Amino acid sequence: MKFLFDPEPVRAAEVQGASAQYPVRRIFCVGRNYAEHAREMGGEVDREAPFYFTKSALALTPSGATVPYPPGTGDYHHEMEFVIALGAPAFRIATKDAPGVVFGYACGLDMTRRDLQAAAKEKRRPWDIGKDFEHSAVLGAITRAEDFGPVGPQAISLSVNRAPRQAARLADMVWSVAEIISHLSTLYHLGPGDLIYTGTPAGVGPVVPGDVLDGKIDGLGPLRLVIGAAE
Ligand code: MN
Repeated sequence: MKFLFDPEPVRAAEVQGASAQYPVRRIFCVGRNYAEHAREMGGEVDREAPFYFTKSALALTPSGATVPYPPGTGDYHHEMEFVIALGAPAFRIATKDAPGVVFGYACGLDMTRRDLQAAAKEKRRPWDIGKDFEHSAVLGAITRAEDFGPVGPQAISLSVNRAPRQAARLADMVWSVAEIISHLSTLYHLGPGDLIYTGTPAGVGPVVPGDVLDGKIDGLGPLRLVIGAAE
């Protein structure tokens, strides 16, 4: 096929112990999946159903990167998250079958322009400019699901300049991996290459140029992000 200009290369993630990369198709994010974080944001978890927002695959940034402090914000926040990487199609899939479509898991950061998100919430406008911007979806290497084991007891944490900011267990998630996939698959034809950021624990906060963020989840490759100068 002939294009008028060079198309963007496919964004991809590293897979632990594999030479082939995982090509990313879409990025879904779950809102308010830890009760304590929902409270710190001035809300409550909706027990009826999870809710979502999305990020462009172009927002994907590998762990280890130094990213510029983004434009348009004075309140750039970290949200450490457990990320599901799908490996098979799923549409209206039952909860019991959902684990079968998981390829693997990774550490992720849902970087957020909190002031823009807060203004959007206030005015009942979309969250896009607060959530979906360049370098806002940071991802560590993917570990295959069979090498990770059952999700639950693992600790998830984030430190900034070695000072602890966020700490929880994956079992603290309100909606489980299987419940999220099953519910999201009632809304989309999910498929290989789709990532799901599963929400962040309490302790979100601002970062500034020069900060070094270190994210960890037991059993997964660690994640690092360095905040560079403002653009
Ligand atoms: Mn988030």
